Parts: sequence; structure tokens; C-alpha cells
Amino acid sequence: MPRHVAGIDLGGTKIQGVVLDHSAELLGRAVAGTPAEGGPLAVAERVAAVAVAAARSAGATAEEIAAVGIGSAGQVDVAAGVVVQAANLPGFDRPVPLAELVAGALGLDPGAVALDNDVNVATLAEHRLGAGRGFDDLLAVFVGTGVGGAVVLDGQLRRGPRGVAGEIGHIVVVDGGDPCPCGRRGCTEAYAGRAPMEWAVQAALAGGRPTELVAIQRRLGRSRLTTEVLVEGLAAGDALAGELVDRAARALGAAIASAANLLDVQAVLIGGGLADALGDAFARRVEAAAAPHLLADEPPLQVRQTELGDLAGAVGAALLVHEASSLSEALDPASSALPPKPRVPGAPAHPGLSLRDP
Ligand SMILES: [Zn+2]
Repeated sequence: MPRHVAGIDLGGTKIQGVVLDHSAELLGRAVAGTPAEGGPLAVAERVAAVAVAAARSAGATAEEIAAVGIGSAGQVDVAAGVVVQAANLPGFDRPVPLAELVAGALGLDPGAVALDNDVNVATLAEHRLGAGRGFDDLLAVFVGTGVGGAVVLDGQLRRGPRGVAGEIGHIVVVDGGDPCPCGRRGCTEAYAGRAPMEWAVQAALAGGRPTELVAIQRRLGRSRLTTEVLVEGLAAGDALAGELVDRAARALGAAIASAANLLDVQAVLIGGGLADALGDAFARRVEAAAAPHLLADEPPLQVRQTELGDLAGAVGAALLVHEASSLSEALDPASSALPPKPRVPGAPAHPGLSLRDP
């Protein structure tokens, strides 16, 4: 009887998979590189292979996978199961019916594969099993190469008719400000995203300003200003590194406060590569930067670090299946029940995500 649910986080460099049981306990996991060649079909086949490998690591077979949830990089049409476009995935510069392709590769009914974007599914995981447990209304912000975000309102992920709800990275914090990778100006990401930070380093160098960041980058053998380079720069007391992180925290604080004033969420979760590397100190800086912009502070806005880290995307993708009633019906009835959602903020009834030894 097929009863396992696989969750896949599809990114530009790697594909991460998990298998969850009926109570959303993590049973197995697997990871593989994203194929650089072969286009969408090769990607779909690799996704299917990772789902099977995750099932095997849980002592199950491919046939025991009842449904698959996928969180993909890029822009996603959730209802159609289509990745509209994803700059980081090979051959995804045009719409790809990924749900159908993966279903085909696994011999599943196309309806047994759910698709959403990677930020939405990571937020779903944090809301159900991570730092967002117990909050009905929250905003999640992921700070890494770009700045992604998602909102949960009344306990449900809010996607919006254009699928851009929660895109806090493109809230304008400076009208006519710095260029953003999206092609507009003054967005949060123009100050808190990695590419704009890299542009700022280049501008500083061109202006003759000294910085250790380039030497650190060379020593670490990196071709870009990675999180690691920035963190080392901070530790070495590099003034520019400090300024970049300060600018990022202020932009995020302004954007988060604006969003909180608009939506009156209970909590804000901060995660992503840069935020994880800088830890709680960064969340506290963002919180401090948001404070002066908040209209109301009673009860205080809860600003927390995300808890599930790198696994949030794959786990959240598996939870998509539980969320979609049409899919959970395909499961064993007892399998579709998620742990009861605690109603009292700050008092999690479910112990959160645990990893049983595979
Ligand atoms: Zn932008």
C-alpha cells in the first residue's frame, strides 16, 4: 500500500529530497546535483531519482511513494503544476509542466504531484513544524542570494492571483534608490541581496576604498562574494563588510516593519543563507531596525530565526501534499492527518521536526 510522501527542494545547484510519514516525521533523505545539461526532462528524471533514493534511505521502495510535493526555484503556476520560468534551472526559460514530467518518471497519476515555489514551501514547513508553530499570521523572510518571502494569514499560505504575495524583497525602501537584480530600483533586495552587495564592493574598489573582502575571497578560492567571504570579512573587522551588513539589516527592518504595519502579523521569521550564517545577532539587528517604524508594539512583534535550515524546502514540499485535499485522499486515510496545530502563540503542542535515524 503506497503511503509515503516525498518532498523535493529543486534548486539551481542541488536537488534535496525527504520522505515523511503520516505524522510528518522525517524518515529518509537524499540529495543530488541539479543536472546542468539535458533540459527539463533531465531535471524531472533527477527529481524522481532523488525521491526514490529518499524512499530507499527510509527502507521503502519506489512503489511505496504515494505522492510527491516539489518546491521549485523560480516562478510557479501552482494550479497548473507548471514552472513558468526559473533563471537558475537549465531549459526553464520557458514554461515547464514539471508536475506532469515527474509524475511520468515515477509512474504516478499527474494529480499525485504538487508544485509550488521554494520560498512558499519553506515557509509552510516553518509554519507547521518550525519557528512559526502556533502563529496564525506570520511573515517569513529568506536572505541569501536574493531576498525571498512569504506570508501566512489565518493559518494559510497566501499566494495571491499573480503568485507574488509575500515578495518582501521587492518592497521599495528607497524611492529611486540603488538598482535591484529585478531591474527596478530601491527594492529591499537592492540592499540586502548578495549580488547588489557584490556591486557595492566593486564600486568601493573603483572608488579607491580599501577592503579585505577581495583578499578573503581569493584566499577562500571563491569566484564570488559568498556568505562565507562576507562572514570572514565581518570577523576580520572589515569596515565595508560591516557597512554592507548594516545596510542590509536597515533595509530589511524598514521592509518588515512596513509589511507588519500593513498585515499586523504576529511574527516574522528570518532565515536563508546569510541570515543563518550570521545567526541570532542578525535577527536582533533587523528587529532593532524595524522597531522605530512599527505603528504598534503591544503585543511585541516576534522576530525569530527559522529552525529547519536547509531542509525546510524539501519538508515543506512534502507538506504541500498534506495541504491539498485532492492529494491527501490518495493517501491512506490515517496518513493524511497532520499533527494538530497549536492555537496558543508561543506554546507549540507538536515537538517540531525530528529526524529518526534512517
Ligand atoms: Zn527588486
